[in-house]
Amino acid sequence: MNVDLHNDPDLPQAWAPWFSHEYITYHAVRALDGLTFLPPVAVKPRPPFADKVWPVGPKHIDIYKESYQERRRLDPVWSFDYKKRNGDFALAPPSGKTIEPWKVLVIYSTEPDLYLDHDLAVHKNQKITGGSHGWRHMEFKVLTSTFGAAPKSFLVHQDFSGLAFENGNDYWGWRYLSRCGHYLADLGSPFHVKALPSCFLMKNIFSGQTLFRTASAVHQGYEVYVERRFREGFEPFGQALARGASEAKNAAGNVRHRLPAYMEKARKKHNEVFYFFLDQYGRDLLEVFSRVDPGGPTETASQTNQCSADAARVIFRDGALPALSFLDGITAGILEDVGLMLGMLFQSFAAAKAR
Ligand SMILES: [Zn+2]
Repeated sequence: MNVDLHNDPDLPQAWAPWFSHEYITYHAVRALDGLTFLPPVAVKPRPPFADKVWPVGPKHIDIYKESYQERRRLDPVWSFDYKKRNGDFALAPPSGKTIEPWKVLVIYSTEPDLYLDHDLAVHKNQKITGGSHGWRHMEFKVLTSTFGAAPKSFLVHQDFSGLAFENGNDYWGWRYLSRCGHYLADLGSPFHVKALPSCFLMKNIFSGQTLFRTASAVHQGYEVYVERRFREGFEPFGQALARGASEAKNAAGNVRHRLPAYMEKARKKHNEVFYFFLDQYGRDLLEVFSRVDPGGPTETASQTNQCSADAARVIFRDGALPALSFLDGITAGILEDVGLMLGMLFQSFAAAKAR
């Protein structure tokens, strides 16, 4: 049996079930020798320098997974809420704990999808991305306007990570880097850099609701598909990430310079993935997500989560598997690019630490 995130004997069950960002980070990180061999760091409180520059969501708290109690065994395939894990965790920095840097990168990579970016007023147009969370995790153009600020989220966290290391807080250096890697991975996903094909947009330009509903149903449907594949231990995805990450040492330039080309490459793959979902599942998928109310009291992201289980039933229904091989191929290509960027990002910090 291949070692994968969900059966790695080095990781406690309390941290499971695992989600896509954790799989993505895991497969990239495990391909980087210089990183996996770094010695454990002491868990420390968060340095205060970030508070004013980059406000975090009012409901966010930094939990510390280094201190855990296993409480339950959730079904790994049907778990869709990042907040619910097998363990309960410390709400304050535990004293006397240490943790390996690669594990910090893995276990905090879903943090930006919790409350970190929720319920903030970051931009007057944030409704179009479903709220402040979407705004900080996407960047796309509609006609001539740009929506979202994910590249900024990436850059800010890269700086925070550097600052934490400079101030001797390696633990938070890695933890900010984990968040930073999340935004970087998001920017390699077609749905985070493009909302809709222009044809589809023009055809439905007078129905904001159709546009919004279709964009979020297909986006969420794709996320459900990718996560399910990871949880099945689908080897081509892990291999693609590892291949990308191991290319990092030969790659020219740096992550910041490569960012625009990386986003453009993901953007170019949007149409084929979008129309695959629409042609293959069309009405059934839209039906699943029709409960989402953009004007509702909770943010769109948490509402769509509730529909994920139903979406998985539609996407993986009997007979759908042969068609999915088309999507598997495109997605492996996407993940290889993500692996390369994460590899470059993590390696630059690991190399500085090893010196
Ligand atoms: Zn995200």
